[in-house]
Amino acid sequence: EAYLKAIDEANPKLNAYVAVTADQARQMAVASDEKLAKGQGGPLEGLPLGIKDLFGTKGVHTQAASHILDSFKPEYESTVTSNLWRDGAVMLGKLNMDEFAMGSSNETSYYGPVISPWRAEGSNLDLVPGGSSGGSAAAVAAWLCAGATATDTGGSIRQPAAFTGTVGIKPTYGRCSRWGVVAFASSLDQAGPIARTVEDNALMLQSMAGFDPKDSTSVEMAVPDFAAAVERGVKGLVIGVPREYRMDGMPAEIEKLWQQGLEWLKAEGATVRDISLPNTKYALPAYYIVAPAEASSNLARYDGVKYGLRETGKDITDLYELSRAAGFGREVKRRVMIGTYVLSAGYYDAYYVQAQKVRTLIKRDFELAFQAGVDAILTPATPSAAFGIGDEDMKADPVKMYLNDVFTVTVNMAGLPGIAVPAGKDGKGLPLGLQLIGKPFDEETLFAAARVIE
Ligand code: GLN
Repeated sequence: EAYLKAIDEANPKLNAYVAVTADQARQMAVASDEKLAKGQGGPLEGLPLGIKDLFGTKGVHTQAASHILDSFKPEYESTVTSNLWRDGAVMLGKLNMDEFAMGSSNETSYYGPVISPWRAEGSNLDLVPGGSSGGSAAAVAAWLCAGATATDTGGSIRQPAAFTGTVGIKPTYGRCSRWGVVAFASSLDQAGPIARTVEDNALMLQSMAGFDPKDSTSVEMAVPDFAAAVERGVKGLVIGVPREYRMDGMPAEIEKLWQQGLEWLKAEGATVRDISLPNTKYALPAYYIVAPAEASSNLARYDGVKYGLRETGKDITDLYELSRAAGFGREVKRRVMIGTYVLSAGYYDAYYVQAQKVRTLIKRDFELAFQAGVDAILTPATPSAAFGIGDEDMKADPVKMYLNDVFTVTVNMAGLPGIAVPAGKDGKGLPLGLQLIGKPFDEETLFAAARVIE
């Protein structure tokens, strides 16, 4: 009831929820109370969570914040949310996001932007919460849920977490099932939690993760005890510092934050080593070929016939065209056009195949660093703190918006786990985050190291 009241009060301003499932939440909470009274509560019994609108929730609003999925309510429940309900969690509602998870500011949503609960000191300017999981991050930061599900294709868990002073982990590719989650770029998409602490993140991931025969890329591997790893400490760990992440023109406060993070890890017994990840500079351009290519293919299914919005046309082709024209927003159309272009005959080898080769090189950079004894890598999470809604620079040039992901996309390209953890504030009191990158399926080390920084 406290969370529902908080949502009622704050959501008209923040726009974090696109649907509130109050009746269902109350029913689930009563069932949780009964289980707890009998001593049969699950590990998350009664915990009220928000769910990103990308996750299929049976009979409940699931539109990926797009007009084209108008009124769509799936007949199925995603594996990740099923796992959370199995463990006792309670759903408060569905969270706003960038349309089809394409964006870094939550401004591409059909439902309008999410407003961050943060303000810069001495300013009343509305700030973005980051994206695409902007609703998830804002809801957690404003105490409109105890934790939220999110997804990350190029940074959409870690960048909004960094902008809102929350913690978010993108697990190793294959750790969480993608079944029942609306697909953006299938070889990059991963689900993960956004929560207020590292420990909450560990508890949520414990429940969300696990092998699922319904997702052929889900990995058949036991889920470790993540909560136990949180207090493990960093004594003896080798922390890599990639020199290519020291970008030209990086704000001094980000550099300072990074050094401070390294000092904290050293003080707890870690050693720090300079490393090189030479192909870093190609990650963003390669991502913006691979992700749109996969998106253009995944989004072909929205044709006005199978789901949601349908415009009437004079014939079937006309119906497809009118439905897609009316149903998709500008950024989604831009991605579909880039994707079909790089996959088209004549350009496929020059762009798509080349980007796949670059992806292998990026993955190899990380493999070499880990083989040389590095246990985890520390970098900034974002190149700046949160910016204003409707930022003129970013509006004028989509590539400026894409630069938000410069530190995070490498991790998706390589399939590695990455966590964003709040580490300090900028000169105006806005949160700044650091990122830890781990070996495949070694989320435990990330939780332990993030705990030292938070
Ligand atoms: N901002 C990136 C993009 O727009 C990443 C989005 C994501 O991780 N879903 O593609």
